Formats: sequence, C-alpha cells, structure tokens
Amino acid sequence: MMLGPPGAGKGTQARQLRRKWDIPHISTGAMLREAVAAGTPLGRAVAGIMESGGLINDELITRVVTERLAQPDTKVGFLLDGFPRTIPQAESLDRIVSDRAPLIIIDIILTEAEVIRRLASRMVCSECGANAVGEGSRCIDCGGPLVPRADDREQVVLNRLKVYREQTEPLVEYYGKRPTYCRIDGARLPDDVTEEIITAVESQT
Ligand code: AMP
Repeated sequence: MMLGPPGAGKGTQARQLRRKWDIPHISTGAMLREAVAAGTPLGRAVAGIMESGGLINDELITRVVTERLAQPDTKVGFLLDGFPRTIPQAESLDRIVSDRAPLIIIDIILTEAEVIRRLASRMVCSECGANAVGEGSRCIDCGGPLVPRADDREQVVLNRLKVYREQTEPLVEYYGKRPTYCRIDGARLPDDVTEEIITAVESQT
C-alpha cells in the first residue's frame, strides 16, 4: 500500500508498478471519481465531500475496498493507493488482509511546499485518470484530453493537506515500527523513485 501526502506520486508510482508486477492498481480516489462521473448512489453521496477535499466516512470507503479486495484478481497481490487514510481504516485493512502475505507499506515523503508546487500545475487525463507527464494536451497512455483535477484548486489543496496532517499522518506511527514499513524520498525523479520502491519491496518478498 502507498502512503504519503496528496501529490507525493502514489498514483504515478502505482501505475508503473502495476505494469512491472502485473497486479491490479486499486485507487480509492479513482473509484470514487468514476462513481461521481457515472452518477451512482455512491457517487452522489460523496461528490460534495470530495470537492471540498474532505474524507468520506470510514464505513463507506471500507465497504468499497472490502468488496474490491474480494475480487479474484487481487489474489496474487495488489497496489492500494489512497486507502487507508485514517487509523480505523488501517485497522480494517489489517483485518481484511490478515490471511494474506504481510502488507508492505510504501511511505512516499514530500514536503508541503513541494506538494503545493506540484498540484498547482498537475494535469490529469479526463478519461483514464493518469497524471500527465511532459508536454501536450493529450494523455500519453490513452490519448484522452488532459484537464486540471477539480480538487487541485489551491484552497482545496490546503484543506487536503490539513486533513492529511490530522487524519492520515498518524498512520506513520501506526505502521512505522513494522519491518515491512519502507520510507521513500518522493522528491527524486519519478523513475528513480520507482527503482527505490522496487528494491525496497523485492527485499521484503
Ligand atoms: P485521491 O485521488 O486519493 O487524492 O482521493 C481523492 C478524494 O477521494 C479524497 O480527497 C477524498 O475525498 C476521497 N477519498 C479517497 N480515498 C479515501 C479514503 N481512503 N478515505 C476517505 N476518503 C477518500
């Protein structure tokens, strides 16, 4: 599972690692954005909260993740991006994976100043959700149009950072003493970060 503030590169890294290990990338943010776009009952319930940068409630998101992790494609492993974000979510995750190989925690470290700088210019694909890298107005993965993410507006980013500090950062303490906890410097070039993660994970397996 990937830990770290918004903009640390969790999604970008998970997409690279999914290709390398051929395991599913489970992004709760992407699942929720799809539900909002499709106008499902879940999407309607969470749209306003997501727009403000707040967290949707633990019970609801845990149900979404529990159902996803029950799918057979996760049997060989999975990359979890955006969950858990609170201590109760982490406790639920420990229960969900208790009969599987140990959870490896990849904590991507990035300063708040760098988060704000990155998110101010982030563009994402409106079709596949990939973060855009490089120049141009089309996604390099699927050719879809690139747009800013609705919750990357500066006021919302500041709220997401506050929420991260208050509710998600305690997870560093929760996981920090486990032998499977890996700290990764997220300020390096994306390919270097990927290499560092691969080395860290492969030394655990
Ligand atoms: P992300 O794409 O991971 O930055 O998630 C976008 C938004 O989805 C967050 O700001 C939250 O509103 C919501 N969200 C995603 N994952 C969770 C979670 N584990 N718990 C609560 N809310 C979540």
